[in-house]
Amino acid sequence: TRLKRLELHGFKSFATPTTFVFDPGITAIIGPNGSGKSNIAEAVRWALGEQSYASLRGRRTEDVIFAGSAARAPLGMAEVSLTLDNESGDLPLPFSEITITRRAYRSGENQYFINGARVRLKDVLQVTASLGQAYTVIGQGLVDAVLSQRPEERRGLFEHAAGITGLRLKQAEAQRHLAETEANSTRLEDLLAEIE
Ligand code: ATP
Repeated sequence: TRLKRLELHGFKSFATPTTFVFDPGITAIIGPNGSGKSNIAEAVRWALGEQSYASLRGRRTEDVIFAGSAARAPLGMAEVSLTLDNESGDLPLPFSEITITRRAYRSGENQYFINGARVRLKDVLQVTASLGQAYTVIGQGLVDAVLSQRPEERRGLFEHAAGITGLRLKQAEAQRHLAETEANSTRLEDLLAEIE
């Protein structure tokens, strides 16, 4: 799975529709302070269903919509489309290319689309979950946070990035099932003992 394309329209500072095409390999985006580099990384997280506006340096939906500048009037809608390569079939959808679109209006309404069809947030989060450890967006704030973290907290972050968090959740669930099964088994033994 590879990020192939990112299209922004009305997202934060991107009033003009802007398309980024990511070729295989490493892509570096450079620009002066405040030119919108972090906004691009935030657009990726936002399109993938991010619900925490605090982590997008905002408080609510409106904060990601272009607020206007000296030269341009504010916009009423933000739209971000992110296209993933799915030739490998790793993502659980029968398409070789998957475009996730998120749209938001000043009313606070958010809409989600997969390959142009309206879907629920849940459907987008399912795709995001199957991306799993394949993607991690590390923002500036996170770099500082990691450096000032205690070792065990830092370990948590690496575990999350390595996909171990998901395994731990599965382990906890399996242990719960095991405990339930053991309890059932004890109960059955008691019943059998009564019958005998
Ligand atoms: P730095 O290197 O300093 O972190 P950067 O290139 O990462 O800078 P960003 O932080 O991504 O820049 O961009 C911030 C810019 O985006 C600011 O100029 C800010 O005014 C603008 N911006 C953020 N939200 C909106 C919005 N809703 N409407 C218009 N502009 C916005």
